[in-house]
Amino acid sequence: MKRTKIERDDLSSDLKKSSTSTTSTDDDSKPTDKNFGFGQVKPLDEVGFKKFLENIKHAKQECGPIIDYPYDERRSRCINGIKAKDNGEYRGVSYWMFRDQRIDDNWALICAQKFALQHKCPLYVTFFLMSHYSVAGTRQYEFLLGGLQQVEKQCQKLGIQFHLELGYAKDLIVEYCEENEIDFVVADFCPLRDPLSWVEEAGRKLKKKNIPLYQVDAHNIVPVWITSNKQEFAARTIRPKIHNNLKDFLTEIPALQKHPYQPEQAAELTDWDKAWGHLKIDTSVKPVAWARPGTINGYRMLYEFITQRLKRYDDDRNLPTKHALSCLSPYYHFGQLSVQRAILCLTTKEVKSKASKAVDAYVEECVVRRELSDNFCFYCPDYDNINGAPDWAKKSIEAHRKDKREYIYSQEELQFAKTHDKVWNASQVQLLQEGKMHGYLRMYWAKKILEWTPNVEEALRIAMLFNDKYELDGRDPNGYVGIMWSIVGVHDRPWTERPIFGKVRYMNYNGCSRKFDIDWLAKIYH
Ligand SMILES: Cc1cc2nc3c(=O)[nH]c(=O)nc-3n(C[C@H](O)[C@H](O)[C@H](O)COP(=O)(O)OP(=O)(O)OC[C@H]3O[C@@H](n4cnc5c(N)ncnc54)[C@H](O)[C@@H]3O)c2cc1C
Repeated sequence: MKRTKIERDDLSSDLKKSSTSTTSTDDDSKPTDKNFGFGQVKPLDEVGFKKFLENIKHAKQECGPIIDYPYDERRSRCINGIKAKDNGEYRGVSYWMFRDQRIDDNWALICAQKFALQHKCPLYVTFFLMSHYSVAGTRQYEFLLGGLQQVEKQCQKLGIQFHLELGYAKDLIVEYCEENEIDFVVADFCPLRDPLSWVEEAGRKLKKKNIPLYQVDAHNIVPVWITSNKQEFAARTIRPKIHNNLKDFLTEIPALQKHPYQPEQAAELTDWDKAWGHLKIDTSVKPVAWARPGTINGYRMLYEFITQRLKRYDDDRNLPTKHALSCLSPYYHFGQLSVQRAILCLTTKEVKSKASKAVDAYVEECVVRRELSDNFCFYCPDYDNINGAPDWAKKSIEAHRKDKREYIYSQEELQFAKTHDKVWNASQVQLLQEGKMHGYLRMYWAKKILEWTPNVEEALRIAMLFNDKYELDGRDPNGYVGIMWSIVGVHDRPWTERPIFGKVRYMNYNGCSRKFDIDWLAKIYH
């Protein structure tokens, strides 16, 4: 597989097949003049941005050196029953990166470096690149590999070896550890079933070699297993648990230090073309230009949000015709930006004093709702099917299973945005074109899929397929939970009963027309 150049206005080829009304150019990956159809986005204040980065750097340095930093052990859990010993002998430590693809503000890497420093041994960052994952295609892999290239460069500066291994960790990890003399592994945490099973299997294999495998939740501010030991009912039940823990976990994050212990052999530079060649993925869904990969671009987006959009977040975040969202979900999903860092930046006195309601609203979405999604996927094995629905919704949807549908659309008609509904078509076109549907539209979009497909199972299947295939931030707990909320009432309450939906909350076209200018949206996304 060859690397593709990011093209401006590059539509997914699925859309190209069905529409000639939008243009594709050969432009490169420079910032564009048409982000989300909102016209020119104001240029970033580069001087301010530099200062912003410097402030972060200073705050981190105040935490002192990693070796003395009081790392909170509750962020880690031992996976395979082999405990790491303070007084043991260790020749090397690997941080097995998969969900949190960054060097900065990464608790898993901090945990690994502290251990390596204590035991005076080399530190490795290891990424096992599988030939494919779910339905992710070129759009998502361009972002992922672009971010990892920056990770490699940062590792070089820090004296940490970066290894991109081609294949499944569960198949390669034992041999990898033996070859590199690694005696301790720290892995990322992701509550979805595949990553959980990779870690479990790798743990079993490492156990036979007496190698401890630990896991650190570097994605959530409060580790999932600390917030709650059970599936939470709704935002209102998890909210106090998260907020009570923030005083312990929403701390400043120390900087990594230059690692003083090197293996005898220098790391080979990654052959990125070979990595692309290893992939067996769908190439029809092209990269997007509005979100450029990597931590530094995540910081830029964060700074742009704070300085240009945050003040409107509280009032306008549910208006798809206003550019008020943070647009950080791809950076969070791939772990290129730490949510904890974003929240630390947003909750400074200076920022809060100018936009206190907006900051509170953002904390609610980005901490409470996001961590609720991880809680659901971690504790509910049926996080992506009807069995994961609350009982009231299951019963009510079942009672309405045979209700007549006024419209039934095939997967293909939906894919090509060929419905009678202007809002829905515009949402789907936005998804295909930009790889990010507006948050408000996502709810409407998923609910209509239930209304227009033969049954709830088919609705869940199609919504998850499109979400995972086209969203840059798809294949994420937030995606499964967002769809389950929309279609089968997860984390919601019963509403007035009506056809097809039963007691699951309904959304209608008139509601959209009262809220925003549908024609404007449809003109841009057609
Ligand atoms: C049907 C449906 C599908 C969705 N699919 C995804 C998905 O695949 N990936 C994804 O990250 N989010 C998904 N969401 C949640 C939400 O719509 C997106 O996180 C948000 O639109 C991302 O854009 P943003 O970062 O600009 O949002 P902002 O409003 O700026 O929010 C900042 C962050 O808060 C979190 N957040 C915001 N809204 C929610 C929410 N409702 N639930 C949980 N976390 C939230 C996200 O991490 C987001 O990046 C989905 C929601 C629905 C209803």
